[in-house]
Order: sequence, then C-alpha cells, then structure tokens
Amino acid sequence: MKDIKTNFHTHVQRCRHAGGTEEEYVQAAISLGFTQLGFSDHAPFPDKDFGMRMPFCELQEYLDTLNALTVKYQTDIILWKGLEIEYLPEYQNYYEELLTTWKFDYLLMGEHFYKDAQGANANIYGPLSSTEQFLLYAHSVAEGMKSGFFKAVAHPDIYMLNHFAWDKNCEKAADIIIDTAAATGTVLEYNANGFRRKLENFPGGIRHPYPYDAFWQTAAQAPVRVIVGSDCHNIPSLWDDSVEQSYGHLRELGIEPITELIQGVKQYEHTRYRKTC
Ligand SMILES: [Zn+2]
Ligand SMILES: [Zn+2]
Repeated sequence: MKDIKTNFHTHVQRCRHAGGTEEEYVQAAISLGFTQLGFSDHAPFPDKDFGMRMPFCELQEYLDTLNALTVKYQTDIILWKGLEIEYLPEYQNYYEELLTTWKFDYLLMGEHFYKDAQGANANIYGPLSSTEQFLLYAHSVAEGMKSGFFKAVAHPDIYMLNHFAWDKNCEKAADIIIDTAAATGTVLEYNANGFRRKLENFPGGIRHPYPYDAFWQTAAQAPVRVIVGSDCHNIPSLWDDSVEQSYGHLRELGIEPITELIQGVKQYEHTRYRKTC
C-alpha cells in the first residue's frame, strides 16, 4: 500500500534557524505526493522574545502567505495554518486569540521550557539537576493538554535528551503525559528530528536524544493517537530517511500512526488583524 504522506510539523525561515519559504515547502510537498501539509513555525509571544522564533511583527505576514498559498494550490494540496508554541499558563488569552481572532487552524505544543517549582520558566535542554524535574515538565505538558488549545504535543519525550538513565521519574513523567493525552484526546507526536540529531553516549548506551523507546512502549499500551512529525527545518528534511525510520519504528512498537491531525472540511477563512513589520 502506498503511504499517505502528510506532515503537520514544518518550520520555515521565519524562525531564523530554518531554511525554505512557505511556497518552497508547498511545491516540495506536492512533488512528493503529499495530500496535506501543516505549517508550524515557532510562534512569537506578544510581549516577550524567548528567542529561536519568528518576530511577532511577522506573524501577520506568515498568516497572509499561508492564506494566499491555500487558495493558489487548493486543487493540489490541503494546507493548514499552525504554530509550534510552548504552553505557559499566563498566555491562555493569547492561545485563544491565535485560534479565534487570528484563525490559526491548530497549535502544536512544543514545551521547550516549562514551569519549575518556583514558577519560573525552566529550559528542558537543561542543565537539570535530577530526573525529578521531568515531573515538572510532565505536569506543564499535562496542564497544556487540559487547556484544550493544542491538537498535539510535539516530541513529548524530549526530556530524555538529558543525560540521565531511565528511572522511576522518567517512567512517571511518561505516564502523566500519556494518561493525559488519552483523557483529553490530544495527539502525541513521534518526532523524526530526534533521529537527525547525532548519536550520543548516554547512561544506558549510545542513542539519539529522542524518540525514546520506553516512552513509546508505554504509549503503545494506551488508547492514544500518535502522529509522525517531520519537524523539518529545511526542505530536504520534509520527507527523509528519519521520517521513514519513524514510521518503521512505530509499527515495530505496534503503533499505527494517524496521518491527519485535523478533522473536518478545510475552511478558507482569511483575516487581516495586525499591521506587519
Ligand atoms: Zn525549530
Ligand atoms: Zn519544531
């Protein structure tokens, strides 16, 4: 059977650490035979620059570009307008606004930072003092899922990029995330970009930082939907060996990934909301 090709985790040059314009991705996706493509560049926050993301004043242009491409290529491919963004509870109104006023089709939770015990934003890339901090990360992700703003969680097992052996806390963090995904119907993303990162010597052996098998073995036992995210930061990565490897690994684990993130008919809604840069 021919694979249905889709991707809902796509970065463009606006985040300043990815290459390729929206249209170049659309053309590549069409030539690869994609049926749907979702854009999820790193979202800005209105009042704070957390780095590694598009400037806030480019958000309108990003949206305008995607709206124009949706119409231009409507007979070739279904396009979705999304953003990858961290869940921070103080931005509830902003997530709401992105979905209702700006009319983004979806938000993908990429929890690169989370709330630590003091309520400050802690970076999941560390350095972390112990695996106990994974529980705080997991609680942040769970709170985000319960907020209802996110269709999916990108790389939920990203905490395993830290150099700790899999222990009870790692397992508990996985349980919190997977149970909440099941309860809220949030999709979990198996992230192909982890396979693009180099192999490293971790306690427990040489491996990629993520995806982490034990996490997904637990997910395989739960009633959760899983999707492969390319998390491409350049055009050739849109569908590459890492994506193929991701589908293969999931199937070995007994998980059949879904290929559509958004149900329903594509609405062609256009909005001009804020002035651009
Ligand atoms: Zn990125
Ligand atoms: Zn990403």
